[in-house]
Amino acid sequence: MREVERDGMGTGGNDALSLSYEEWRGRMAEWGEPGFRADQICGWLYGRKVFNYHEMSNLSKSLRERLSGSLLMPLPVLIREQESRDGTRKYLWQMTDGERVESVLLNHGGHTTACISSQVGCPLACTFCATGSLGFTRNLTPGEILGQFLMMERRRLDAGAEQGINNIVFMGMGEPLLNADSVFGSIRMLNHPKMRGLGARHITISTSGVAQGIVDLADFEIPIRLSVSLHAPNDALRSRLMPINRSCPLSRLVEALHIYRRRTGERVTIEYALIDGINDDPQLAYEMAALLDGLEPYVNLIPFNPIPMKPELHRSPEPRVKAFCTALSELRIEFEVRRERGADIMAACGQLAGSLPGPAK
Ligand code: SAH
Ligand code: SF4
Repeated sequence: MREVERDGMGTGGNDALSLSYEEWRGRMAEWGEPGFRADQICGWLYGRKVFNYHEMSNLSKSLRERLSGSLLMPLPVLIREQESRDGTRKYLWQMTDGERVESVLLNHGGHTTACISSQVGCPLACTFCATGSLGFTRNLTPGEILGQFLMMERRRLDAGAEQGINNIVFMGMGEPLLNADSVFGSIRMLNHPKMRGLGARHITISTSGVAQGIVDLADFEIPIRLSVSLHAPNDALRSRLMPINRSCPLSRLVEALHIYRRRTGERVTIEYALIDGINDDPQLAYEMAALLDGLEPYVNLIPFNPIPMKPELHRSPEPRVKAFCTALSELRIEFEVRRERGADIMAACGQLAGSLPGPAK
């Protein structure tokens, strides 16, 4: 496994939301405080979603003052919240340096899933993705990643919801495996029983196919779920749609997926957005089956979501989707057609673009 600092992110140590549990314990020990103070603070932050040290009423006044004087709480600031006809909510956040990202909260059968961003923009420039057209600005810190989740959860609870958020998916802006240290760090905090305690099976990373990142993930100590955005089963087409394929071709990606499957025993979900006349020929389903032979993939067919910067790309019409599904059934590949959510507020897959045309400074 690539060297990922297990006890935190080494972010300079003054960002409260980027501190791991072990770092909280260490900080309390340094300050001559008993270890359970770390549990109390994490309980406020991750349990009750209280971010103001002065409201942490079971801490001494001197500790609260010391915390306020030394540990920043760089929560994302909510700039805009939109609600879709189907109940999906999209949030635009501003980070302390003025950069903006979006997150989405989806409801399905009484459960909620937070779709969060891992980078400001994305360097991978997939031709069909709004985020990809922004270019890359910077990675988010673990605290900025967690901050999106915690702020959404707090808003939800403040609005009277009985439960917190049930699932998190790294399917917002950015490529999580190109910011793996921060993403893995934030997952450790989400999962830690003294922090948010979110189960590993409720956490999913989606990657455009960063092969080394997939191999690293196979050794990650928390057995989260993995989705891979395939969108094309041969190098010629995939390189046209997803420039990452030029440096990391399908042979490397598939090799990494075999390693992942062998080491974890997990099935991988394959994401495939059907774009009219581009990648929806049923013949491609046969190519996909051959490519993924032995991996027992679960295929998620995504209706392509139109984006303003690519008006020439359209969603596959229903008969084409059906023909593709028929081919997958004949091939005995398990699949589902993902229901489109939040498209009326540009909150569906691939539509996130922060504060287009650029971040507010
Ligand atoms: N960078 C990661 C995660 C963010 S994108 C990745 O690429 O996997 C989340 C999902 O939305 C990916 O499967 C991506 O391929 C898909 N996507 C991007 N643009 C889309 C669009 N216009 N319509 C449908 N899905 C899209
Ligand atoms: Fe980046 Fe994913 Fe969009 Fe590709 S699909 S540009 S990897 S966010």
